[in-house]
Amino acid sequence: TFRALRVFKDGEGQPRAQLDTLPHAELPAGEVTVEVTHSSLNYKDGMAVSGRPGILRRLPMTPGIDLAGKVLHDVSGTYQPGETVIVTGWGLGERHDGGYATLARVPAAWLVRAPAGTDAHWAMSVGTAGFTAMLAVMALEDQGLRPGEEGEVLVTGAAGGVGSAAVALLARAGFNITASTGRPQEADYLRSLGARQIMDRADLPALRRPLESERWAGVIDTVGGATLAGAYASTRTHGSVAVCGLAGGAELNATVYPLILRGVNLLGIDSVTCPSVRREAAWARLARDLPAQTLAPMTQTRGLSEVPGLAQEILAGRVRGRTVIDVQG
Ligand code: NAP
Repeated sequence: TFRALRVFKDGEGQPRAQLDTLPHAELPAGEVTVEVTHSSLNYKDGMAVSGRPGILRRLPMTPGIDLAGKVLHDVSGTYQPGETVIVTGWGLGERHDGGYATLARVPAAWLVRAPAGTDAHWAMSVGTAGFTAMLAVMALEDQGLRPGEEGEVLVTGAAGGVGSAAVALLARAGFNITASTGRPQEADYLRSLGARQIMDRADLPALRRPLESERWAGVIDTVGGATLAGAYASTRTHGSVAVCGLAGGAELNATVYPLILRGVNLLGIDSVTCPSVRREAAWARLARDLPAQTLAPMTQTRGLSEVPGLAQEILAGRVRGRTVIDVQG
C-alpha cells in the first residue's frame, strides 16, 4: 500500500481532501514508478486541494502538480532504479494522480533527471513556481532583454512563489528589479532576494489610458487583471511582458496600442506543456542560478497532512515564497 492525499466527493457531492491508504493497483498507467519523497505547494495545488473547480478533471484524484523522488522501476528502460527524477506539469495533479502520495506512476516522457549536484528537496523548493519563473526570465531574454541601461524589470506578486524565484533569478542575472507586493512587511525579504525598489501593490500605476508613460523594460506578472493591464501599458518601447498568472484576476482589459505603437511583446508562459528540450535547459540553469543556499531563505518545509491548511493560506495570499512538502514525513 501507499499513502496519498486524495480529493473525493463527500456525501453532499462536495470535493474534500483526506489522507488515505491505497493499494498499488490504484496507481495510474505509466512506464515509471517513482518513490516520491518531496512535492511542493503551488497556487494551483491550493485550488485543487480546496475543491475549486477547473483543476482536478475527475474525482477521486491525488493532487500535487510537482513531484521528486527516486525511480523504483521503469519499463521503458530509460531510467535506472535509484535515479533522482523530477516531474512538473503535463497534467500531473490535474488529469493524472499527482505528487501528494508516497508512490507515483507516470509516462517516462514526463521525467527530468535532477541536475548533477542537486537533490529532491532542492528540486521541490524550485517546483513549478521556480521553473515558471525561469521560463519567464528566458522568454524576456529571448526578446533581447539584457541587464544594464535598458532599465527596470517589474515583478508583480513578488512575495509569492513564482515572484520570489523571479526576483532571485533576475538579480542573479544582474537586472535592476522593482518588486511589487501587497505585503509591505516583506520589503526586507524582497530586498534580500535582490530587489532594488519595492512598490506597494496599491501604488502600481493603474490603467487610465491605453498608453501610460514608459517605465518597464521587462515585466514578470503573476497577478493578471488590472495589474497586468497597467504594467503592459507602462512597458517601454520594444520591452516585453511575460504573463504567468492570475492571482489577482484572469481578465485583461487592454488595447493593441502598446503592441503596434511601441512594439511591446506580450509573452505567454505555460510551464505545463513546456517541451522537454526547453525543460532540461531551464532545470540546468536553475541548478546554476538558484542553488539550495539561495532558495533557503524563501523556502519552508511542511508535512503532507498540513497541505489542506496550507491550501487555504496560499489562496489567501498569505504564503511567502516556496513550500516544500515532505511526502514521507
Ligand atoms: P503564490 O505563491 O500564492 O503567489 C501569488 C502572489 O500573488 C501572492 O503571494 C501575492 O503576492 C499576489 N496576490 C495574491 N492575491 C492577489 C490579489 N488578489 N491581487 C494582487 N496580487 C495578489 O502563487 P504561485 O504558485 O507563485 O503562483 C502565482 C500565479 O502564477 C498563480 O496565478 C498561478 O496559477 C500562476 N502560475 C502559472 C504558471 C504557468 O505555467 N503559467 C505556473 C505557475 C504558477 P504579494 O503578497 O507579493 O502581493
